[in-house]
Amino acid sequence: MELCEKVWWYIFCGRGHTPYDKESYDSIEWDKYLIHKKCVAVGECGLDYFRLEGTPEDKESEKAQQKEVFKKHIEIAKKYSKPLIVHIRDASSDAKEILLSSNAKEVGGVLHCFNADEQLLSLSKDGFYFGIGGVLTFKNAKKLVNVLPKIDHEKLLIETDGPYLTPHPHRGERNEPSYCTLVAKKMSEILEINLQNIAKLTTNNAKKLFNIS
Ligand SMILES: [Zn+2]
Repeated sequence: MELCEKVWWYIFCGRGHTPYDKESYDSIEWDKYLIHKKCVAVGECGLDYFRLEGTPEDKESEKAQQKEVFKKHIEIAKKYSKPLIVHIRDASSDAKEILLSSNAKEVGGVLHCFNADEQLLSLSKDGFYFGIGGVLTFKNAKKLVNVLPKIDHEKLLIETDGPYLTPHPHRGERNEPSYCTLVAKKMSEILEINLQNIAKLTTNNAKKLFNIS
């Protein structure tokens, strides 16, 4: 938040807890952040079943806790009328079910680092955007390359997920925003839309979603 205020006028932030950070979820903090005009979203939040550990019972209990915290984030987002930044890994069915049953379409959001799972595409009509990052440029990214043309153009976003998921040919290095151009170039090739128009389209989409003028 301090960075948003002091450094660059175009830095905006979201507030949330990733699925593995659920212990630090603290509802008291929300007001402080969410009333700030540069806090444009609630998130990251969501479900991540990729690293579940322990017995089957442990895993079930972890899932239940993640779901509970995810639902709380959705309620907070609705209360403050801010879109959600949603993280979904190995949990598409549960995440979709929660987004629909919690009426998250009231605020919409972005499925960040979209996992290319086609069952999530229908969330487009519920106000959800699809965050596309460095994975699109990976040589083994067939699934995402194939699903990309099925996403409504008005719902495409480009993201870094820095410092992770650095695009080819910088894979393995620290990711940074300037590398987004590599994602945009790849998107332009796949969709056969010129690069400038991809830039315009995804920038406008982001402004619309996060209500940035
Ligand atoms: Zn994430």
